[in-house]
This record gives sequence, structure tokens and C-alpha cells, in this order.
Amino acid sequence: MIELDDTHDPARTSWVEAANDPASDFPIQNLPFGVFSAAGHDARCGVAIGDQILDIRACADLGFFEGEAAKAAEATKASNLNGLMALDLRFAGALRRVVADLLDAKAGHAAHDHRDSILYPMRDCTLHLPTAIGDYTDFYAGIYHAIAAGALMLPDNPLPVNYKWVPIAYHGRASSVQVSGAPVRRPLGQFMRAKEEMPHFGPSERLDIELEMGFFIGKGNKLGEPVRIENAAEHIFGFCLLNDWSARDIQRWEMFPLGPFLGKNFGTTVSPWVVTAHALAPFRVPAMKRPSEDPKPLPYLSSATDQQAGGLNVDLEVRLSTAQMRQAGEQSQTVITSSSRYLYWTPAQMVAHHASGGCNLVSGDLIGTGTISGPDQAQLSSLLELTSGSKPFAIGEGEQRIFLEDGDQVTFRGRCRREGFRELGFGVCTGEIIPAHHGE
Ligand code: MN
Repeated sequence: MIELDDTHDPARTSWVEAANDPASDFPIQNLPFGVFSAAGHDARCGVAIGDQILDIRACADLGFFEGEAAKAAEATKASNLNGLMALDLRFAGALRRVVADLLDAKAGHAAHDHRDSILYPMRDCTLHLPTAIGDYTDFYAGIYHAIAAGALMLPDNPLPVNYKWVPIAYHGRASSVQVSGAPVRRPLGQFMRAKEEMPHFGPSERLDIELEMGFFIGKGNKLGEPVRIENAAEHIFGFCLLNDWSARDIQRWEMFPLGPFLGKNFGTTVSPWVVTAHALAPFRVPAMKRPSEDPKPLPYLSSATDQQAGGLNVDLEVRLSTAQMRQAGEQSQTVITSSSRYLYWTPAQMVAHHASGGCNLVSGDLIGTGTISGPDQAQLSSLLELTSGSKPFAIGEGEQRIFLEDGDQVTFRGRCRREGFRELGFGVCTGEIIPAHHGE
């Protein structure tokens, strides 16, 4: 478990003024890592602070780091975070403590004096994927999603018999993971339309979102060597928001018996900033309470510490903006709100299960939690669930949606709130649907 320390002190402020705005996702208590390029510069690792990005390499060149923090900074020299993630979590923790001091309104004089050479306005930078993602796995740990989506796909058996025993997942596609802001092309694919006898090939007619959180593997494990549940949290570097774009028509036709394939591998979007396990320490909560009639997890998935503090409390929101709304100058509308508290399995249980057969997880690998729906209608976190695939909802001035249309922009946000602590957020995870390729 990560202990609270003075990096979590809500009284701390930064000399970067925008970080002190209560609405900012990136106060001095957050300090998420990401990869950016400023105009005329190569991609490099940075830390978000307010509306600025701190250049870790520039700080290292000024001699601001020593000991474990220096080793951590050294590991960010490549244009991705894989090296930093491969180190024991305490190295990123050491770097975080020094960065907090550098940016501190009271203690950060030395860094403030060099502000022009170590800070870049975020709006002038391009943000990249945080890691070179070797592998991507997507779980199915949101039990309200599993029940609601299962009821639509398989009315007789919405929750698979193994659901409360096994953290279910599918192996996703790393090559099509994109950073927030990249357009998402509507996929072509094969599917069966209602009341037709033969499958059809063409642009998906049921394009959907899945509201999820993602996390990045820190230290890996050797092939053949499982990760014990007690140690699993040490293999999780940090979290992001994740949209598992899904073509429901393609998915439905192809997924039995081997699971999702082309219905989900045309694109996955992640937010660019990795909110670290350290920053999230105040926002850990008990694992989702299992009803007393549910089975207890098997021993390899059971840890008292994980049950007590392995859950995560992040408020999640989905906003939708249509092309017509933007033309009319209208704001995007909130269509879904949910919370990461509705995960039946904790991230540590996902890691322990994933590695339990000996599968090697590698630093920088991306894991999705699965769609995080809540028990209420407004918390159903995919359009499939929200509309049951047939009942439209109203959006903008006189428009309606069942699934996504070309030009629709979907934006996820996540925010951590707890009495006595500074609120922090994840930035945005956004993507716009562009028309299918014409090569049909
Ligand atoms: Mn998913």
C-alpha cells in the first residue's frame, strides 16, 4: 500500500497559478506523467501541472534530481514511460516528491527561476501515447454492465456462470490504441441485419462507446512466474481513462465462441496523462461489496489489504457533442455519469488473475477494466445499455441517437473527490467518429 505523505497535503499550492484553480484536473497533488512534444522538439516525458507541462529532462539537466529521483528521471530519457514504469514504484514516488517541491509555491524558487526552460504551455504541445504498448487486455469487471449488456445479448443467461469466480477478459489489440484527440474511423465489417437471411458487409450501423478506466503495468513478471495477489498492486503504475469503441453489430455476429475480434480492434482511445498510484492513494476505497450469497474469491484472488483498500473512487462522466450541435454553437451534453466503485474485481485481482497461469505482463502494457456501469439508468455506460439498442435518447435541438453518427464527439472525464483532500482529475479522453473508409 502506498502511504499518504506531504505530496497529498491539500494546503500545498504551486507557483504555476492555473494549478491552484479548484477546477483544474492537475493541481500540485496530482502530477501525472505523460509524453509530449513542444514545437520544434522531440517527444519527451513530462508532468502535467495546471495548464503547463514540466519537462523532466530539462529539470534533470539543471541538476534538480539526485538519488532515486535521478534514477527515475534517467529512466524517462526515451520518448515513452516504459523505462520509468519498469522500476520499482518507489522510484516514481521519489521523483514525484522532488517534482512537488520544485513546483511548490513556497519551496520551488530554484525551478521558478528557470521556468522558461522547463515549462511548456499544454495548449502548444502535442500529447502522445504514454507508453509503447506491447499488449492490451480488456477486462469485464463492471458487474452492472455485464448484467445489462448480457441481458441484451443473451436474455436467458445475462451473467455468465463463471462471472463471480473469474475476472473475465479478452486480449485486445495494442496497435490500434490511440491517444485522446485522434479521430476514430467507423469500421467496415460483416454483420447480420435484423430480418435478413444473409450477412451484410459495410460500415457498422451500431457504433458504440464503452466507459472504462485503463491502467499501465509497472514492474513486469517473468514468463511462468505468477504475481501473488498480495504483491499485485506493486505492478500497477497508474491509471487513465479508456474508451473501448465497439461495433455492436460486428461484435454480435462474430463473438461466439472465441470472443470479440474486429468489433473492437478498430480503435481504443486513452487519455494522455497517467495518474499515478501515488496520486490516487487518498482515493482508494474498499473493493465493491459482494452480496452475502456471492462466492468468496478463491485464495489466489483474496487479500485482506486488497479487499480493504484495493478499490478506486473516481467519478466518471461521458459528454456527447454532435456535428449539428457544434455548428449551432451548443455545448456538449452529459449523457452518462458513473463511478469506478462499480467494479466487481479490483485492479490487483485483474493483475493476479492475468498472471496466474504464468502469462508475463510487461512494463507499459495497458489493461482495461471493462465498462463501468452503475445500477441506475443514467449510469449505463454504453449506448447499447442506455438505449437497449432500440430506444433513442434526445440530444441537442431535436436530434436523437441510438448509436453514434459520423461527426459525433465523445469525451470522458474522471474526477477524484474526498473530504479533506484536493480534488484531482484525469484530463480528457476524447474522439470524433469519422466516416467509414470508402473501399467497401
Ligand atoms: Mn470493453
